[in-house]
Amino acid sequence: MKTIDDYNFEGKKALIRVDFNVPLDADLNVTDATRIEAAKPSIIKVLEDGGSAVLMSHLGRPKGQRVPEMSLKHICEKVSDIIGVQVKFVDDCIGEKAITAAGNLQDGEILLLENLRYYEEETKGDVGFAEQLAALGDIYINDAFGTAHRAHASTTIVAQFFPGKKCFGYLLAQEIKAIDKVMSSGEKPVTAILGGAKVSSKITIIENILDKVDHLIIGGGMTYTFIKAKGGSIGDSICEDDKQELALDILKKAEAKGVQVHMPTDVLAADAFSNDANTQVVAVGSIPEGWQGLDAGPESLEQFKKVILASKTILWNGPVGVFEMESFAKGTIAMGNYIEEATANGAFSLVGGGDSVAAVKQFGFQDKVSYVSTGGGAMLESLEGKTLPGIAAILS
Ligand code: AMP
Repeated sequence: MKTIDDYNFEGKKALIRVDFNVPLDADLNVTDATRIEAAKPSIIKVLEDGGSAVLMSHLGRPKGQRVPEMSLKHICEKVSDIIGVQVKFVDDCIGEKAITAAGNLQDGEILLLENLRYYEEETKGDVGFAEQLAALGDIYINDAFGTAHRAHASTTIVAQFFPGKKCFGYLLAQEIKAIDKVMSSGEKPVTAILGGAKVSSKITIIENILDKVDHLIIGGGMTYTFIKAKGGSIGDSICEDDKQELALDILKKAEAKGVQVHMPTDVLAADAFSNDANTQVVAVGSIPEGWQGLDAGPESLEQFKKVILASKTILWNGPVGVFEMESFAKGTIAMGNYIEEATANGAFSLVGGGDSVAAVKQFGFQDKVSYVSTGGGAMLESLEGKTLPGIAAILS
């Protein structure tokens, strides 16, 4: 795997695909600069080698239009502050202006291009557009994991114009290593915790990871489809009736592969989908009519704790309850605490995909697990076993 460390950028222009798709407030100030911080090490490496950096990114979904609020010029100062170098900006990403700005760039300097998605050719993966981008740099670095699952011009197609001169940035390399650790090279026992709302959105992940894990903890809203399929009463809990057979099939496959499946035995049930609802702890298969399971119960959490603390590799995707409401966040917080403890004891823990990152950040666990993935969709597709086009393009 070629990474940025395999290259010396002295006198070279690095064309870097970063993910600067950051949230802006109404005054167009950056409200969360995590993604800019995450790109910093790769940019600094290029500059310290004695090269220059041409940064390209998308921001929002302008769909081929020049939407002024989605201009990358709004984040230019923030990037300058974080990198510690005054970043130059050009209000186009291809054409004369971009070529001139990139051509004038001196070693040690940084140029930020205008939003790639002002051109619909970007998301269409247009080869001609990618070739124009490619003209702006000598070496291509992909450091945008969040878009690595898209075969867009700047994330995938552009790589073909850099034979032998393309590599992963630090961030992307880290993501690849973290996923690999869980999916193939992790120390056993390996445990996957899958929560969230629906079986249907996680089914491909479950099927893929059954070959890789020793323990599978199923939690959250997904649980009830399994419990109902097994003949339990789930009251008004969330359920995908058409997925019941699939749920039974998963359990059969898990058994055949020797994977131990752990599901809640008790739940915190509520008489409404509301933070102020009345609640009671009930057995998972005996939820009364008019009540719905919204969090894992204490007995379930004890059971999960034992499994997590005995694990050496842990993957966490999806909350075990409706963590957005305080009354039903305890289970998810407890899971975070167990994973934190296991990590402190030497386990490798990866959190990622969809809402898990929001939960981890909300409860302050991001520094207590081994790795928090920056890419929601890209992470999910990796866990599904797909080869991401942005990664394949560097490897080819
Ligand atoms: P996902 O994006 O699939 O990981 O799902 C995350 C969502 O699942 C969160 O918004 C949670 O509120 C929701 N969720 C977790 N447990 C339950 C539950 N028991 N009932 C309904 N929704 C749930």
